Amino acid sequence: MEDVIELARRRGFLWPSYEIYGGASGFYDYGPLGAALKNRVEDLWRRFFVIGEGYMEISSPAIGVEEVFRASGHVSHFVDPIVTCEKCGEGFRADHLLKEKGVDTDGMTYEELDEELSKRKVRCPACGGGLSRINTFNLMFKTGIGAAGRTGYLRPETAQNIFILFNRLYEFYRKKLPFGVAQLGRAYRNEISPRQGLLRLREFSQAEAEVFVDPGSKDRHPRFPEVSHVKLRLLPGDGEPRELTAAEMVEKGIVAHQYLAYHMVRTYQFLREAGIPVERIRFRQHRKTEMAHYACDCWDAEVLTERYGWVEVVGIADRTDYDLRSHIRESGVDLKAFLRFDTPKREKRVILEPDMKRLGPVYKDKAKEVGELIRASDPGKVKGDGSIDIVVEGERLNIEKGMFSKKTVEERVEGEKIIPHVIEPSFGIDRIIYCILESARTTEERNGEERTVLRLKPAIAPYDVAVFSLVSKEGLDEKAFEVFEMLREKGFLALYDTSGTIGRRYARADEIGVPYAVTVDFQTLEDDTVTIRDRDTMKQERVKIADLAERL
Ligand code: AMP
Repeated sequence: MEDVIELARRRGFLWPSYEIYGGASGFYDYGPLGAALKNRVEDLWRRFFVIGEGYMEISSPAIGVEEVFRASGHVSHFVDPIVTCEKCGEGFRADHLLKEKGVDTDGMTYEELDEELSKRKVRCPACGGGLSRINTFNLMFKTGIGAAGRTGYLRPETAQNIFILFNRLYEFYRKKLPFGVAQLGRAYRNEISPRQGLLRLREFSQAEAEVFVDPGSKDRHPRFPEVSHVKLRLLPGDGEPRELTAAEMVEKGIVAHQYLAYHMVRTYQFLREAGIPVERIRFRQHRKTEMAHYACDCWDAEVLTERYGWVEVVGIADRTDYDLRSHIRESGVDLKAFLRFDTPKREKRVILEPDMKRLGPVYKDKAKEVGELIRASDPGKVKGDGSIDIVVEGERLNIEKGMFSKKTVEERVEGEKIIPHVIEPSFGIDRIIYCILESARTTEERNGEERTVLRLKPAIAPYDVAVFSLVSKEGLDEKAFEVFEMLREKGFLALYDTSGTIGRRYARADEIGVPYAVTVDFQTLEDDTVTIRDRDTMKQERVKIADLAERL
């Protein structure tokens, strides 16, 4: 892992942020190669979920107003237990300190954590000082919006914006369920003393999709037959590891429904395409005690790393109607879908029928309006004395018993309003990138020399191709530059490197994962051919320059 991080720093993938000011943990800069790699991983994600599933992407502000996170539960629930050192002031997560001592803290209350800490005489890992009792620490970054300072928060997940826009998105999708919406963007969490590099950042990139579905149809995903045979390694909540096909995991009731299982398989396929070895991927179900406040079933895609063991890289959750329901409550806006019945129903309903003959003489020119308001009133609002209150032009009127009567009518009902449920695959891009780098880096002995190769899949490699001249004389380098320009024009992200011997240039290209190296040599001047060298096999083939782009 040290080698991966060293390589990432040295070759311009990743740099710890704010180095010249002493650094700030939890923040990383993606250098030129890292940013290119990240863009490619995100493009691959788009190919899977935006193009492949039709989950159109939106892009919302990173700052949200307070109401959003009050509704979502983040203001009250998105907290970690923190203890602070009474000597140096450093803060630590209480459960992490105990986990480091081998304690299983799952499901422990704060009192129990406190007790464990004092029982084990845990002290500050930084200076050995005594620790405070546990406080709660909200992980959201708080900010003030404008001069008046309306409270805002940097979003801790990209999902909330999608829920808030439900009515607009439902309309965009022509008022039909299911539909999915994606967002790739930054999320912010003020993690307490993050010490795990790219795995625990305070600003990180998420790629999330929210799939809105009729709760009665979660058992039938239209594309499930395409994935039903795919086998996944599972670690269900009961802790019994199993390898099952998507069809089996739903049939046995281990995964709640087809919608979850479908997205687990798509996640697996994405991670495989991104270059994570399949034997290092498993899906772990959340135990009830660790489930987020909004979820009813949740599976994490985990990747086995050399450095950190199993790491959660994607969360796939059934968020039920929790978020939409919460935003309806907070905003008062109806965020619902209309489900049409297969055949309309006839339903009996009690209504209030105004007696116009008696209303007319009393309310004169207002009688018609009063009649309509009575008809629109809820029969349940009729008072004990048989009268009802209505509001006409801002004025409350009490309509006496006898001016209207209760009547049962039969109505044709076309459908009903429901709050959709949400299935959410939530990808942590930075963690995926760490896992990709760790598993791609290989070393091998070649002719007594160590060769380091970053075996990135061509689809995500920062550069598509490198172009070299064998030597820089007799016009070979001019020719190589021409080939480089030609490839650039055709849309390849190409690297042109002239420094050092050809051997060193191959080695550098291998180390940053360039899948192919094109070399111009003396034969090029005679027959307009070049060699393409494959990074992984080191085999070379000769092609005409005219066919090069097509071949690549
Ligand atoms: P969560 O909403 O906590 O399930 O997070 C969704 C995904 O975001 C996780 O699977 C992680 O891959 C990623 N993630 C969460 N927190 C962090 C963090 N502090 N730094 C980097 N990635 C994170």
